[in-house]
Amino acid sequence: MTDHQGPVLDPGLLSRCISCGFCLPACPTYAATGDEASSPRGRINLMRALQVGDLGPDDPTLREQASQCLGCRACEPVCPAGVEYGQLLEQWRDHQWRGRHRPLLARALMAAAGLRGVWRVVGRVRGAGAGRRARAGAGAGAGPAGPARAAETSGAAGSAGAAGSAGAAGPAGVAGSARVAGSAGVPGSAGAAGSAEAAGSLVLGCFERALFPGVSRAALALDPGLTVPPGQGCCGALHAHNGDTATGERLARRLGEDLPGTLVTTSGGCAAHLASVLGRDRVRELSEHVADRGGVRGEVRIDGRRARVALQDSCHLANGLGVRQPPRDLIARVAEYVELPSAGTCCGAAGTYSLLRPRESRRILAAKVDEIEAAGVDLVVAVNPGCLRQVRTGLRRRRSRVRAVHLAELLEMAAGGGV
Ligand code: SF4
Ligand code: SF4
Repeated sequence: MTDHQGPVLDPGLLSRCISCGFCLPACPTYAATGDEASSPRGRINLMRALQVGDLGPDDPTLREQASQCLGCRACEPVCPAGVEYGQLLEQWRDHQWRGRHRPLLARALMAAAGLRGVWRVVGRVRGAGAGRRARAGAGAGAGPAGPARAAETSGAAGSAGAAGSAGAAGPAGVAGSARVAGSAGVPGSAGAAGSAEAAGSLVLGCFERALFPGVSRAALALDPGLTVPPGQGCCGALHAHNGDTATGERLARRLGEDLPGTLVTTSGGCAAHLASVLGRDRVRELSEHVADRGGVRGEVRIDGRRARVALQDSCHLANGLGVRQPPRDLIARVAEYVELPSAGTCCGAAGTYSLLRPRESRRILAAKVDEIEAAGVDLVVAVNPGCLRQVRTGLRRRRSRVRAVHLAELLEMAAGGGV
């Protein structure tokens, strides 16, 4: 028997599964292992055993499967019974990973993400660094000569390149840099709340502030009407996905109170988590927001032709919020869109998965990179920073000529060097 007081999982959610098995072909871990325990149906049966006390959290199969699941939610859209697997997984891990059972690395990341001061410092450091790079690029006459150059610069240099591109692209890019850097460390303006009601508040995101600050600058360059309230904390997605649902909800609510108006995010994972806590009406992922606000302009060209561009879906955005078409439509407006056969399948980033289970993550990524190379594309677009890091890492390891960029960066390239 477990020592948990009351049910581990919501009985109403748990009872929905009718064991039909329709979800099995959609599950990447079942495809990799062929083991029923690694399938959504198998994991739900393990949860049921945990619920009634037949298995305890120390059971090795329960421990392994709670960790092996990607949390990609590919099992949800195909389920005829409407099983909300993502919620079940969060509740399962909340019990399974309590205290000493939670992976040490996840604990460290969650502790860091929960401290607002950490993100203020990161914002200041990254904002200052990016500002220096942008100025150096402009001083050296390194601004993009056209869309092809912009694409090459941004992809090759990662976020630093994107920052350079934003800074060199024109007044909007420079203004964007200044506003994001300022928002991370400097008190906001008095007029912030008013404009946020009209255009929305840009969520900076922990991962992006640390690794891809150029993505937020590009988003702001696309819609300068967005406000970036200062002192933003974590949205709590990291905590919710790693077995601390209470903190995950508390952080989301706090962000909802701190940021006025609609919350616009460049992260599919943050969008899904915020929507689950604050309500769908309060949250717009960037592709939805850009489409709402009138779309895009310009074109991305490489070697004198329209760039061939693929998309890697964000699992939580596609499977959790059902947002699949808007990013595809936007890419098709500025480039030649190429659909990857497994665009909707997890790239192996899966939040902390690539850190906690690197071997499995790399295996999933290797197949993804094979597919990208075979598609003959110039660029791959991500709509989630974790996916961006994962795909970019895979392409670099392979010394691929294909570059991974965030959707915001692609659209900024098109706008900055529009043909
Ligand atoms: S999760 Fe849905 S699709 Fe999978 S076995 Fe249960 S009812 Fe069927
Ligand atoms: S979340 Fe993804 S890996 Fe986990 S059971 Fe569902 S489809 Fe499989």
